[in-house]
Amino acid sequence: MVLLRFAPSPTGPLHLGGLRMALYNHLFARKHGGKWILRIEDTDASRLVPGSVEGIQKALDWAGLEYDYGPDRDSRYGPYFQTERLELYRSYAKKLLESGHAYRCFCSADKLASIRERLARAGSNSTYDKSCVHITDEESARKARAGEKFVIRLNDSHPPSRPPAVDLVFGHLKDAHASLSTDSVLLKSDSFPTYHLASVVDDHEMKITHVLRGEEWITSFPLHLDLYAHLGLSPPKFAHIPILLNSDGTKMSKRKGDVQVVDYMRRGWEPAAVLNWLALAGWGVTHEETSPDSTSRTHVKDAPDSTAVMSLPELVESFDISVLTQRSSGLDVSKLEYINKHHLALTWATEEGMDTLAERAHIHVKEAFPHSQYTTIDNIIKTIRALEGRLTNIQDIPRHAPFLFVEPDLTSDEAQSMFAVMPDVQDRSRMLQMLRDVVDTQVNDWRSDVVFSIFQEQLQAAGLPRKIFLKVLRAYLTGMKDGPPLADILTVLGPERTRARLSPSRV
Ligand code: GLU
Repeated sequence: MVLLRFAPSPTGPLHLGGLRMALYNHLFARKHGGKWILRIEDTDASRLVPGSVEGIQKALDWAGLEYDYGPDRDSRYGPYFQTERLELYRSYAKKLLESGHAYRCFCSADKLASIRERLARAGSNSTYDKSCVHITDEESARKARAGEKFVIRLNDSHPPSRPPAVDLVFGHLKDAHASLSTDSVLLKSDSFPTYHLASVVDDHEMKITHVLRGEEWITSFPLHLDLYAHLGLSPPKFAHIPILLNSDGTKMSKRKGDVQVVDYMRRGWEPAAVLNWLALAGWGVTHEETSPDSTSRTHVKDAPDSTAVMSLPELVESFDISVLTQRSSGLDVSKLEYINKHHLALTWATEEGMDTLAERAHIHVKEAFPHSQYTTIDNIIKTIRALEGRLTNIQDIPRHAPFLFVEPDLTSDEAQSMFAVMPDVQDRSRMLQMLRDVVDTQVNDWRSDVVFSIFQEQLQAAGLPRKIFLKVLRAYLTGMKDGPPLADILTVLGPERTRARLSPSRV
């Protein structure tokens, strides 16, 4: 069985890039009938932000990405917080010390800085000169016992045999080990592990079969392979996922738009649409694959276009790691708008979908019209039906149809320009009276299509041009030029509110 993990550090709210990483882990796991773990990498105390874990869980929950194992779930592979696994990392560091693949380094911060300076002056890009590797085991143990501060470094003087470093997205990484920094730190002076040690130990202990993580870790990949080799463990398979960019190719940042999942939650986007958008942003339409020996190239052509509308199960079905591009992907909000609109239509097609949608829309509508008595779920469902095809985002409901929740302002320029087609107040008054009479006959059996067609018959019989009466009627009911079909508006308003809006006092 394949087993993956999403391993965020709780250093703040979950970003889109993090959600996409969780999504790819989910897609890969489910595609292969496997499972995934949520692991919290919280060993860097200086970067912890309280509330982050809850925020991450909330965001995953909103998105509908259900992890199988993690804090609050099945404990089989736990504990899932790295700070609860410190003894484990220390025992692995000890093993490496004992086998000579690691050593204690007692260099102070000042000393390290001057070593770095010296090496840089000599044109080396190495950051350490291995001075402590020469300390004998006895001396090292004595210093440690005496309470001298130390870190544990990997000893790369005798590298293990290195099979090719192969990544599932980037293929064979040639000269991967050339960029390794000298004797990386594994255990810090506070005896907390570095990311390298902790992730290797956990991926092994948790029986992870595939590591899908951000491209920023690709430079650590060779070090991790060496660690597995020194520990005599076989590594999982690795896939490094190219990062997300803005549509103009610039780095995503808070300044340039929404980058946190909570922003998307707040702004009313459909979770399924956000997943759809994020997944396809990295999917190549035609993707060239180079064979490991670089002799042949194949085009993968069946990857969906970046605006294909797909549900989570459909994404799982189509997911194939080989369709992921090696380039960083630009995220284009206009694509999200398109995808969201289609997801909305899919969601409200089922009763259950409509109920959840109305619940979510309720928050936005209530916020826009806090004093309205018409912001009921029932009314919101009717409103969503009336706005079918017009809505890109549920958050737009208040903008598209404020008149379904509050009285339209008939003194606005927009409303007044509509009345201009029937300037005579007497004419408008007669028209309203006629319409009210119709409403009165229909009160007990309010079928808006019937009411609307009687409206039309009556007004045509009275010799009013269709275009004119439709405009004036819309002005009285909504005060806005654009909006859903009048019959749909009548459905939501019902007889009483319709009658009130046709009152002669509003002439
Ligand atoms: N804690 C790391 C991060 O948040 C995880 C990297 C990994 O998936 O191994 O970037």
